[in-house]
This record gives sequence, C-alpha cells and structure tokens, in this order.
Amino acid sequence: MRNVQTGNTALLREITLAPAKVPVVRDADVVVVGGGPGGFAAALRAARMGASTVLIEKHDMPGGVHTIGLQGAASRGVGGIHSELMQRFAAAGCIYTVTEATLPDWAGNPLSHYEAYLDPGSAFTRSSFNPESAGCVMVRMLEEAGVTALYGTSFVDTVVANGSIGQVIVANASGTQAIRGKVFIDASGTAEVAARAGVPFERGGGPQPATAKWDGQHRPIPGAVLWIMSGIDFAKVAAYQKRENDPSLAKLIAAARAAGDIPADLYRPRMAGESVYGHHYIGHPTLDMSPMQGPGTFVFWQNVPYEWALHMDDDAADAARAKRALRQFIEAESRFAKKYVPGFENAFVSNVGRYVGVRDGRHPRGEYQFSIEDARAGRRFADAITRPMTKTFFWDSYTAYTFEIPYRCFLPQNIDNLLLTGASLSFAYETIFMVMRNFPWCTQTGEIAGYAAGLAVQQGVTPKKLAWTAPYF
Ligand SMILES: Cc1cc2nc3c(=O)[nH]c(=O)nc-3n(C[C@H](O)[C@H](O)[C@H](O)COP(=O)(O)OP(=O)(O)OC[C@H]3O[C@@H](n4cnc5c(N)ncnc54)[C@H](O)[C@@H]3O)c2cc1C
Repeated sequence: MRNVQTGNTALLREITLAPAKVPVVRDADVVVVGGGPGGFAAALRAARMGASTVLIEKHDMPGGVHTIGLQGAASRGVGGIHSELMQRFAAAGCIYTVTEATLPDWAGNPLSHYEAYLDPGSAFTRSSFNPESAGCVMVRMLEEAGVTALYGTSFVDTVVANGSIGQVIVANASGTQAIRGKVFIDASGTAEVAARAGVPFERGGGPQPATAKWDGQHRPIPGAVLWIMSGIDFAKVAAYQKRENDPSLAKLIAAARAAGDIPADLYRPRMAGESVYGHHYIGHPTLDMSPMQGPGTFVFWQNVPYEWALHMDDDAADAARAKRALRQFIEAESRFAKKYVPGFENAFVSNVGRYVGVRDGRHPRGEYQFSIEDARAGRRFADAITRPMTKTFFWDSYTAYTFEIPYRCFLPQNIDNLLLTGASLSFAYETIFMVMRNFPWCTQTGEIAGYAAGLAVQQGVTPKKLAWTAPYF
C-alpha cells in the first residue's frame, strides 16, 4: 500500500506517490532483462564465464518470440550457442521437418507462409522446433550454467546515477523489488530498459517513401500473434484447391464473407510497394500457415492491420487493443476454416502465443547506429564483432551487401554499464527489420553481449571501457 496526497483525488489527472522502500533482493555481476534469443544467449555466455547472472523474464520460459510467441523456425546452426541450441533441440526430439516428399502440394501453395513463392512442386525443407519442448530445453540449459532465471518477473524501471544503472526495479509475486548489478543487458526485444534509463531512441515506424498514396503517417511494421491448429488434413485441402481451381481459397472466402462469417479486417490483401517499406509482407489474403510440431499441425499468423498503426511496445492501450482484436480474428478464422475449408473439419485451436510480437519497436541510439548506408558502402570497423558478413536487403531490391558491425552498436548513449542486444540493438529500421533481427542473428548478438558483460566483470571495467579488437564470430 502506498500513501498519496489527501484531498479530492477523484479530480486529479495525476497522483504523487509517497517515496517507497523497495527491498534489494539480489546482487549479481550481470543482470539480463528479457529471455528471448538475445537474452537467453547473453545470460548463458555470461554465466559460463563465471559471472553471477540473473535473468528477468516476465513469461514462463526463455525463447521470446520463438517459444512463448510460437514462431519456432529452426535452421542450420550459425555457430556458437545457436548451433548448440539446434543440436540440443534435435537431441531432445523437438525438431519437426517436412519436405516435398512428406508434404506434397506445399511448395508454391498460396497458403504457405514461407514456401508460397517457390515454383509448385519444387524441393524444399522446412524445419521448426516445438515451442513448448524447446522452452523446456532452454530452461534446463540455463539451469546447467547456473543462471538465476526469474520467470514471472517483469522489469519495470531502472535506478540511474552518474550515467550508470545501479538497480532495476521488478514486479512479481513478491511485489516490487530491486535487483542490483554491475552490468545490465537490454534483451527486452523493444529496448525497454534503454528507454527507461533515458537512452534516446526513435519510435518504430521510420519515414515511409513519399508516394502519391502515402498519407504522411509513419507507421510501425505491424506485430502479430501466432497460433496453432491441429487435426488438419492438408491432402484434402490441396485436393479441394485443385479440384475447384481455387488455390487461394478465394471462392470459400467470398462465400463466407457474403454469409457474414468473416470480419472486415480478416483476409486483407498483402500490402505492396509503397505501403510497407517497399516490401510485400503484411496482411494476408488467405490462410497464412506453416507446418509445425507434427503431421496435421500448422502454425498461423495473425497480423495487426497495418492501417491501425499500433505502437504496442510503448502504448498500453494499443497493446490491449491488439490483444483483443487478434483473439477475435483467431476465433473467426478458425471457425471459417472448420466450416468452409475441406480438410479442416476435425481441426482445433491447440495453442495461441502468449504475447503479440512487436516487429518494429524502439530503435535506441547507441555509440554507433548501423544504417543502410553502412551496408551499401560495405563498411569495415576496427571494433567489428563478426568477420565480414553478407546479407540481402529487400529494401534495396534484394541486393546482397557484405559488411561488418561495430561493437559500438551494443553500447547505448548516456549509460555506461548497459549493453544492447537482439532486436534492441542500435540499428536503423531499414537494417533491422527482416534483415537483421532473425533468430540466429539475435542469438549471436546475445552471445556477444554476454561475452562483453563477462569480460567487463572480469576486468572490472564498464562495457564502454572494453577494448574490442577481434571479431567474435
Ligand atoms: C510476429 C513475428 C514474426 C517473426 N518471424 C520471424 C521468422 O519467421 N524468423 C525469424 O528468424 N525471426 C522472426 N521474427 C523476428 C524475431 O523473432 C525477433 O526479432 C527476435 O525474437 C528478437 O529477439 P530478442 O531476444 O531481441 O527479443 P524477443 O524474442 O522479443 O524476446 C524478448 C523477451 O523479453 C521479455 N520481456 C520483454 N519485456 C519485458 C519486461 N518488461 N520484463 C521482463 N521480461 C520482458 C519477453 O517476454 C521476451 O521473452 C519475428 C518476430 C515477430 C514479432
């Protein structure tokens, strides 16, 4: 209970809380906020270097968008903890792979989230990990490394003095608590720690190309919630698509819409060209799905409508609206599929992601902000964290650029003992969206942040004072 000023508080627009005593319940070398791919790898690496490490995660397991959010895409290991993780998932039997042999009619199918653009019948391999089992493996790996993982604990604020974070304030079943650390890592996925600590940032939604259709608004790339249906007979779906010459289920959708069975914002056209950073991506005109977990089970995407321009990372009303709306879309979509689409008669919703993923959150300002110009120029840096790497930029008509990333992108302005990682790195939006915020890369940058934190603790310096001379990967 906190006391406030007396008088007629019903008329106040804001209230003043009396100073509160908050217990400092833990003291650690390294405190990581967020247990997604970035935070997981950061905590693991720091703990393996001997640093006492606390991980703060508001949900019930590590993995972020990829477990709690059900994204679950598995890929070939890119080295370090990411490769280890893929091996551990495989050993635990939680990777499911389909190919053209096991899922004929999938390549080139308009319903496929990833393989729609392939030529029909072409070879493909799609692997995913079971998000719930993978989360269990990740919990065990953190335990083995000696990380103190505080699940069900939300980061709320920072206590900053003289350009350093002394403690983070968290809320959990015990109430409000403080956790002291030497080095902090922002792995929140939306640069929440940096923002609370006063690091400058740009909101998600960069300047859009100025075209005739552009209405002048900067909108963040919409987030999405992923959800899973089981009991689908895909062969029957494919047979219907061929038999009725209805590859994208347009006839079924039209019939359902005419009958009032589909809400207006479901099955919206993919926005192309000028609408979404020059990219065909958001919106889906039909079922948008990918095989997962086992035969008959598929994960589905439910995007926030782009025009709603929701800032779910820093606006609670927007975040709540997205959650309310997407749950209703899921209900409507699953009802439509069961009622109208042959092959879905026995299907059922088996999981819904615990949170609506943010694709385009805050872009914090670091000592260096990596931009599209750096990529285009193929820039090299004395403090490069990896050897030159090649990435394809859809923003630039899918051109491949080879470049390096400087360690300074991990170092936020204004705060000396905070490291950025994952989707919270100091990158301009054109470089991070789609191109440099995928699961392997976020795991790599988490590992680098954990290494930097461990090294800073060993040397008794802040991360900003570390001399970074050799690439990690
Ligand atoms: C809808 C969607 C689809 C995507 N599809 C793909 C894809 O197909 N392939 C791909 O490789 N990448 C994909 N991505 C991108 C990728 O998932 C993210 O960029 C990546 O997960 C970012 O990793 P991260 O560790 O920085 O953050 P996140 O994965 O977002 O993890 C952040 C963690 O911090 C926790 N957290 C946040 N705030 C707090 C707080 N206040 N207190 C405590 N804990 C907190 C969250 O619960 C979460 O566990 C997708 C992203 C989204 C949103």
